Amino acid sequence: MEKVMDKLVALCKRRGYVFPSSEIYGGINACWDYGPLGVRLKNNVKRLWWRSMTQLRDDIEGLDAAILMHPQVWVASGHVENFTDPLVDCRECKARFRADEMGVDPTDPNTPCPRCGNRGTLTKPRLFNLMFKTFMGPVEEDSAVIYLRPETAQGIYLNFENVRTSSRQKIPFGIAQIGKAFRNEITPGNFIFRTREFEQMEMQFFIRPGTDPEWLEHWRDERVRWYLEEIGLRSEKVRVHEHAPDELAHYAKAAYDVEYEFPFGWKELEGIHNRTDFDLSRHQEHSGKKMEYFDDETKQRYVPYIVETSAGCDRTVLTALVDAYREEEVEGEARVLLSLNPSLAPIHAGIFPLVKRDGMPEIAERITGELKDRFYVFYDEAGSIGKRYRRMDEAGTPFCVTVDSETLQNESVTVRNRDSLDQERIAIRDLGDWLGERVRT
Ligand code: ATP
Repeated sequence: MEKVMDKLVALCKRRGYVFPSSEIYGGINACWDYGPLGVRLKNNVKRLWWRSMTQLRDDIEGLDAAILMHPQVWVASGHVENFTDPLVDCRECKARFRADEMGVDPTDPNTPCPRCGNRGTLTKPRLFNLMFKTFMGPVEEDSAVIYLRPETAQGIYLNFENVRTSSRQKIPFGIAQIGKAFRNEITPGNFIFRTREFEQMEMQFFIRPGTDPEWLEHWRDERVRWYLEEIGLRSEKVRVHEHAPDELAHYAKAAYDVEYEFPFGWKELEGIHNRTDFDLSRHQEHSGKKMEYFDDETKQRYVPYIVETSAGCDRTVLTALVDAYREEEVEGEARVLLSLNPSLAPIHAGIFPLVKRDGMPEIAERITGELKDRFYVFYDEAGSIGKRYRRMDEAGTPFCVTVDSETLQNESVTVRNRDSLDQERIAIRDLGDWLGERVRT
């Protein structure tokens, strides 16, 4: 099964989805660059999330806060003290592990190293803070230390009052943000699953204390629906895991993970947490600024509770790719395809002249020009039609439009469906609407 990941990594490089970062210098561990198709896929993921959060709902506002924040933020949030992972090294083979992910007890001297199998070579777990540190200004001294944010959520908490008063929202309401986060992970890997620089899509929903259990369930169900209906994941690959008390993060009263079955096992895709009034109370305490809300309806004054949905954008991209990857045999010939949801696909339609003569290229170019305004289309006249189809299959393009001899007679084209391989004839003048019904742009 791990082989699927190798094949996917190779496909991503070949087709321009994802490249290793700094490749000409030998690469840099767990850093990746999104290529021409990858950046479109990623933008489509963000667009669908942003749309479902801020466009289709009246009770969520958007925000784009700075990556660099006052260092006290991370003291108040608990990250300076608690944002640590237990690190275990093997003195023999130099392998490095996260103690909580080893599945064995590293403190037992009889435990063999999971990599080299030697006993008595594992170090005791040491706590390691995951925040990247840097200095603000020219002097590298302790007082100038700041952090690259390890999550986007804190920028939302700090702007709670600004957003509430400027948008005139009343509780319950949410604030959504997409942005980069940085974590000095001990064990990055599995392609873009765990990296040190990544993008999060986080929404913090501010609510009245006591209403938190129902909002937690609401958001759990809504987020699962989003992955199934909007990203188009196969339902048997998605499940919800409820955190046991010993799994809960320091800020959480209850939590669910949305999980996906990757080739390397069931893993977290998104966390949905009941954070209570932990965050706003801590910032109230550390900043000295009131974080209370006066509820007109109940005439109560309280520090709002928060239910958060915290998703990884890169991880969603990976999940969409893994879920879409297929190897098939068609008429004795192998084909690889990415069966991406049409609304996610980086190219919505390939436009081909069947042959490079009889005016077919001109018609295909004209169609490309007409559709460009609404869709991502790709004109291709190079190689046999079969080869062009295969290239689009691998790129995840849901539809291919071919101009052929019949087009010359009646202004219709053949549209081939990537998944079913069905072909149908469509009048050129109806193409835009036909695609529009199948692709949400
Ligand atoms: P883990 O326990 O796997 O390290 P976490 O529980 O710390 O993850 P959260 O802090 O809840 O993760 O982060 C929310 C989401 O952000 C995750 O569900 C994931 O999609 C994404 N994410 C977190 N860390 C990374 C990373 N290093 N690389 C890519 N995405 C990440």
